[in-house]
Amino acid sequence: MDQPMRLQDRMYHDWLLPEEARSVRIETRAFVDEEVLPIASGLNTISESVHAFPGDLFQRMAEAGLFRIPFPADCGGKNLQYPLCAATVVMEELAYASDGLAAIYDDHCLLPGIALLSGSSSVKQRYLTPLMNGSAVACMAITEPGAGSDLRAETVQTHAELTGDAFVVNGHKRFVTNAPVGSFMTILCVINGSLTMLLIDLHAPGVTVGPPDLKVGNRAQLTADVWLENVRVHGENHLGEAGEGLRIALRALTWGRIVIGVSGVAMAQAALDECVHFMQKREMFGGKLADSQYWQFRLAEHATQISMARDMCYKAALRYDLGAGTPEPEMAMAKYYGTQVAGDMARDAVQIFGGSGYITRLGADGSTFKVEQIYRDCKIAEIYEGANEIQKRVIARAAFGREYVR
Ligand SMILES: Cc1cc2nc3c(=O)[nH]c(=O)nc-3n(C[C@H](O)[C@H](O)[C@H](O)COP(=O)(O)OP(=O)(O)OC[C@H]3O[C@@H](n4cnc5c(N)ncnc54)[C@H](O)[C@@H]3O)c2cc1C
Repeated sequence: MDQPMRLQDRMYHDWLLPEEARSVRIETRAFVDEEVLPIASGLNTISESVHAFPGDLFQRMAEAGLFRIPFPADCGGKNLQYPLCAATVVMEELAYASDGLAAIYDDHCLLPGIALLSGSSSVKQRYLTPLMNGSAVACMAITEPGAGSDLRAETVQTHAELTGDAFVVNGHKRFVTNAPVGSFMTILCVINGSLTMLLIDLHAPGVTVGPPDLKVGNRAQLTADVWLENVRVHGENHLGEAGEGLRIALRALTWGRIVIGVSGVAMAQAALDECVHFMQKREMFGGKLADSQYWQFRLAEHATQISMARDMCYKAALRYDLGAGTPEPEMAMAKYYGTQVAGDMARDAVQIFGGSGYITRLGADGSTFKVEQIYRDCKIAEIYEGANEIQKRVIARAAFGREYVR
C-alpha cells in the first residue's frame, strides 16, 4: 500500500525517553502496524453502536499485554520502572492510527485502572485481573449533565448513602466512555457532603445505560448516559477514604491529561505525514504542490510545534515516573499545547487536501481521507479530561498564585 513515511523517525531524535519506554514503542508500533492501521479507516468512520465496538481488537490488545502496562507486579501488571512514560507511548502509537481506539484504551485501562489502585487488595484482585486480561471493559464516570469542569461537592448530584453494609446510589452520569459495552465503572459521587469514589457493576439492578451518543469524531469510542436508581454497592467497593474522591480522580487524570496531550501530538504527526506524502504527489501548475514555499514553511512550523509538544508530554510523564508527584504545570502545558497543535495542524491538513480533505467517503470509488478523520477526531481532545481553559487556569495559578486563581 502507498503509505506516508513516518516523519517522526526522520525528524524527532528521542533523547528523553528511557530505554524501557523505547522498547514499548517498538512493540506497540508493530502491533499497530499489523492490527490497527489496516482497519483504522473503518474504525474512524463507522457510526456508533454496540456492534461497532472493536471487541476482537480489544481482546488482541489485552493479549499483547497493553492493558498490563500501568500496573505493578503485585496486581499482575508489567511492573515497569516508567509506567506513565510507557502508557504515553502506547497512547501515541494508538492515536496515530485511531484516536477513538486510543480513547477506548485510556478510558478502560488508565482512568479506571489507576483509580482502582486506591481500592483494597481484594477489590484490586477482583477488578484489575479482568481489566488486564480484557474479559471486562472498564469505565470512569465523573461528568454529569450539570457538572463537568466544575466538580465541587455542591455541583455533583450523584449521591450515595451507607445503609447497613452497602451504599445505595442515586444519580445520573453523562458521556461515560465504554459504558454501552462496559462491565464496571469507577464513579465520583457525594457521600455525607464529600466527594467519594465508588466502584459499580454496570449489570447491577438499578443501573440503566443509555444508547451510544452519535459524535463528530472518535467514532470507535462509545459514550452514553448512565442512570442509577437505588443501586446497592457493597461497602468494600469504596476506593480510598471518604472524601478522597476528587484526589483519586485527579490522580487518574494525571495519567489522562498527559496521554490526551500526546494523543494530540500523534494526530498532528499523522496529519503532517499525510500532507507531505500528498503534496509530493499532487500535480499543480506544472509542478508539485510540495514546491510551494508557503506550504513548506507552514509545515515546517507545524513540525516544530509537534516536536515541542511531544517533548512536553514526555517531560511531564518522566517527572511523574521519577517520583516528583503531580507534574504541574508541565502536565497542564502538555495537555493544552499537545491538543491545540493537533487542531492547528488538522485545519491546515484539510486545506492542503482541498475538496478531498472534506470527504468522508468518495462516492465514485469509496476512498476515505485520513485528514478528514483527524479533523473530526482532534477537537474533543481540547475538551475532555479537563477543558483546555482548565489547564490554562492551572498554568496561571503557577504564575500568579492561588490568591488570584481560585
Ligand atoms: C467523547 C467524549 C468522551 C467523554 N468521556 C468521559 C468519560 O469517560 N467519563 C467522564 O466522566 N466524562 C467524559 N466526558 C466528559 C468530558 O470530560 C466533559 O465534557 C468535559 O470535562 C467538559 O465538561 P462539560 O461538557 O460539562 O463542559 P462545561 O464544564 O460546561 O464547560 C464548557 C466550556 O466552558 C469553558 N470553561 C470551563 N471552565 C472554564 C473556566 N474556568 N474558565 C473559562 N472557561 C471555562 C470551556 O471552554 C469548556 O469547554 C467525555 C466527553 C466526550 C464528548
